[in-house]
Amino acid sequence: MGEPSKLAQIGENGAALKIQRRKTRSIHVGDLIIGSESHISVQSMCATKTQDIEATTRQIALLQEHGADIIRIAIDSRRDVEALAEIRKHTNARLVVDLQESYKLARSVAPYVQKIRYNPGHLYHHEKNVPVHEKVKYIVDVAREYDLALRIGVNFGSLDPEQAGKNEDPIEVALTSAKEHIGYLEDLGFSNYVVSLKSSDPNDVMDINERFAQMFKNIPLHLGVTEAGMLPMGEIKTRIAFENLLVKGIGDTLRVSLTLPHAEKHKEIQVAKAIIADVYAGRFRSVPRFEQTGLNIISCPSCSRVENEAFVELAQKVREMTQEFSDRKLTIAVMGCRVNGPGETDDADLGLWCAPSHVNLKRRGELVGQFSYEEIVARLKVEIDALSSNGEAQA
Ligand code: SF4
Repeated sequence: MGEPSKLAQIGENGAALKIQRRKTRSIHVGDLIIGSESHISVQSMCATKTQDIEATTRQIALLQEHGADIIRIAIDSRRDVEALAEIRKHTNARLVVDLQESYKLARSVAPYVQKIRYNPGHLYHHEKNVPVHEKVKYIVDVAREYDLALRIGVNFGSLDPEQAGKNEDPIEVALTSAKEHIGYLEDLGFSNYVVSLKSSDPNDVMDINERFAQMFKNIPLHLGVTEAGMLPMGEIKTRIAFENLLVKGIGDTLRVSLTLPHAEKHKEIQVAKAIIADVYAGRFRSVPRFEQTGLNIISCPSCSRVENEAFVELAQKVREMTQEFSDRKLTIAVMGCRVNGPGETDDADLGLWCAPSHVNLKRRGELVGQFSYEEIVARLKVEIDALSSNGEAQA
């Protein structure tokens, strides 16, 4: 543990930058090795409905064509599992499933995937009488039986409610949660896992991953700025975090989360590869810290769970409408569903999270109301005007 790895030298035109990667343990996702001196693998996630087999298979092929090493799919029901079984017949991609509350689906999905991601914050909602460590044991037993990798995926938008009640600092809560779950896996003698600690704030992503890298020197890290939003700001926020971490040798696999139409989902892979190549070539485009000087729009990248297909268009309309307010110091969150929507909108000045036929609008954590997809953008403007005239959204 903790020994320096040999210096990685990758670059172009002789201008290579020497980066000392952390010497973590190596884990495997099928035939892909993650950690230590292995190449930094790039991931993405399908935004299509999992049960739309044709669209999901097409999106997997698109992501694979652009060099995705691992592709994630959301699975929430038996019907999603049936769709996954069918999708598997059409692809050889390394697949990871994203399990939320339904941890018991792990056994059904295992034959079709190489990796399972679970979120510690979501293991509390179903079967409340079953202790969390028993649920984790269930997932670990499946992973061992099918030789799968796991990801402990901690997300600031859906932190473990028990830990969150004990501390107000999300970084401390997220670290405690990760530490607790690492303890569960290590006690079970399971080491084929990575950890991710994601926030929509690049500064939090930098801080928590640096702290984690110091605390757990041998555990591979999956990097991500969640809900980074649309281009170009989504890339800028991600670059700030990734450049600062990768140059310190932190980060073994990563995903860039962008809000994109389905046909452009491969841009997540292109941007990720460009950031890695730039860092290793010594080309840095960001400033060391993310200073919010004006409007900050957070939007999720969408996935199978998105409640209404109009989500991406809604995010784009919000960006267009808010251009005239670009100098206001406001954070607006636009989220696709109830999974991370309620949590992320709590922390924003104004938050929108989608339900199937309406959009919930919140002001600083309080529900303002529920509005139709046609009404919501105009209603949001009313709220921005109100905050501006109250002096709460100063330019
Ligand atoms: S908020 Fe919902 S729709 Fe958006 S990426 Fe997260 S789970 Fe998917």
